[in-house]
Amino acid sequence: MEKSSISPEMLSRFHDVEENLKAIRFQMEEAALQSGRSPEDVILMAVTKTVPVEIINHALSLGVDYMGENRVQELNSKYDSLSREGKHIHLIGHLQTNKVRQVVGRVEMIQSVDSVRVAQAIAARSSELGRNTDVLVEVNIGNEESKSGIAPDAAYELICQISEFDGINVQGLMAIPPADCEIAQTIKYFDEIYKLFIDIGSKNTHNNSYTMKHLSMGMSADYAEAIKHGSTMVRVGTALFGRRNYSK
Ligand SMILES: *Cc1c(COP(=O)(O)O)cnc(C)c1O
Repeated sequence: MEKSSISPEMLSRFHDVEENLKAIRFQMEEAALQSGRSPEDVILMAVTKTVPVEIINHALSLGVDYMGENRVQELNSKYDSLSREGKHIHLIGHLQTNKVRQVVGRVEMIQSVDSVRVAQAIAARSSELGRNTDVLVEVNIGNEESKSGIAPDAAYELICQISEFDGINVQGLMAIPPADCEIAQTIKYFDEIYKLFIDIGSKNTHNNSYTMKHLSMGMSADYAEAIKHGSTMVRVGTALFGRRNYSK
């Protein structure tokens, strides 16, 4: 697209994304260094629900290599217009078994696996397409009834079961701690999930059917703390794109 055909409003949003991205990268670097890790070891994922494609593509052009959508339908409506070359697209929202066919083959990773049933469907469809889909197991770290994700004490067993399936690679854990907590409480959740991540990784001595490579935790309000407490991937929406407008 020619710059001249872009509205002033859009240009101003592009500019905001550039500034926000610089600030986020800076904070991520500081947090990684403080936790004794290299900044390259922590991935920034842009969370793009409600964000127009032009703005997503602008963020991708600035070097954001990972993007996550929540809903299959929204992902599919944007998919053909995304600048996908060399980029990693993940599904991060709850996935119903009956939507699996609409998303496998389009995303590199599904971060929200929380049942044998959905894992089985992802594996079957992936095999049918002759490919592999990476998955993370979503852990309901606060044991919240309203939330998806598997209970922390059931995560290991689920991983053992589903990592046997052809067509999927289990690569780690994803968690969304309860909203509206004090940061000190959120940090306790981060520490719990990190411990689980390390425990499950250390049990993987006899086979290599899964890896604990990614720990996806931390969002706009707490990504720096999440990194300090072991996150390898932060999922950032609002801090990058501004407040979401759900009205459109
Ligand atoms: C929306 C969303 C995010 C990003 O939330 P922000 O607070 O806007 O950064 C991260 N992860 C998931 C699963 C989400 O749905």
